[in-house]
Amino acid sequence: MSAIKEHDKKQIVGTYARFDVAMVSGKSATCWDETGKSYIDFTSGIGVNSLGFADDEWVEVISRQAGNLQHMSNLYYTAPCVELADRLCEATGYEKVFFANSGAEANEGAIKVARKYSFDKYGEGRNKIVCLINSFHGRTVTTLSATGQDVFHNYFFPFTEGFVFAKANDLVDVVSKIDDSVCAVMFEFVQGEGGVIPLEESFVEGLYTYCQKRDILTIADEVQTGVGRTGTFLASEQFGVRPDITTLAKGLGGGLPIGAVLCNEKTCNVLGPGDHGSTFGGNPVSCAGANVCMNRIANDAFLEEVRRKSRVIKEAMMGIREVEGLSGLGMMVGIQLHSRKAKEVAQDCLEHGLLVLTAKEKIRLLPPLNITDEELSRGLKILREVLLANEGDILG
Ligand SMILES: *Cc1c(COP(=O)(O)O)cnc(C)c1O
Repeated sequence: MSAIKEHDKKQIVGTYARFDVAMVSGKSATCWDETGKSYIDFTSGIGVNSLGFADDEWVEVISRQAGNLQHMSNLYYTAPCVELADRLCEATGYEKVFFANSGAEANEGAIKVARKYSFDKYGEGRNKIVCLINSFHGRTVTTLSATGQDVFHNYFFPFTEGFVFAKANDLVDVVSKIDDSVCAVMFEFVQGEGGVIPLEESFVEGLYTYCQKRDILTIADEVQTGVGRTGTFLASEQFGVRPDITTLAKGLGGGLPIGAVLCNEKTCNVLGPGDHGSTFGGNPVSCAGANVCMNRIANDAFLEEVRRKSRVIKEAMMGIREVEGLSGLGMMVGIQLHSRKAKEVAQDCLEHGLLVLTAKEKIRLLPPLNITDEELSRGLKILREVLLANEGDILG
């Protein structure tokens, strides 16, 4: 075993079932392990490296920012976070932004905004949030509580109170969970960790209208679906709604930690001085990286390319017996397998020089949004070969 793996196992808390590879460098959608073997990357971290590895402009800009002002406390004004807030509001139509450092933290912020909004307006007792079964909202105690999967509700008792769960795409069930104690509904437009499962348009429409009428806030967790991943800047655009709060994280910084809570006219003045904060939130280097991502991604030509590459991926998966079905939006693709285990397919892909993710029983693809056609077709060729490998056996 290499020194990296040995030390990792010895001294890092074993929360990750890592693949048996140590990565050392990357460029565009290709990365290299410590033995020099190369891999096409269909993971982007987990939807993080939206511009791939070591994008020239991104490296230039964050290096310059690091050499100029790497951090300043939120007690002072700085330019990169202001620029980023401006770009985010411009691209999404939201009014104001709170900056955090991760998806879970952005969701914590959203939950605080929703509860305080209701407290300010209606007083105590209207604080529950309806979440969807099979959702994923993060690993902090509160976002675990908001996550609609029982496997996450163990060991760490007591969990945060005030979350109730309803079936996705079942408006009757959601409405049955809503009473005078509910302040918000929280959902992913495409459940990512839950298996790349999109919400139905009619469900979103119905839910949005129902909530608006009753002043129940809608919170969209776009930590995975946001920043161009689904072929529009926000996935909500494809559903024709703008929730009261949207959270972003993964792809926003292009590889640097950042989270954002986008607030509309209703929610943008709920938090005041002292109500919330973060030491690292709005960090100048993270924000400089995010500004490059925003500049490149939040425009029609770029997003049209994401949609085109999405079609290329889906077409390449046609006519493969092992592919039972495809799900997702844009370059967030789930592959339902006929008989093979997703983990085994991911391991086979790795051995053949391709990185893919899994989500529940599916293969999940989140390639860098700017992956070149050449890298995309090389990766798809490997994936096809791996998925076709047993075709003879199955036929026999
Ligand atoms: C990854 C993810 C999170 C958690 O983000 P972290 O940065 O790991 O805290 C929350 N919600 C969704 C939808 C995610 O995909």
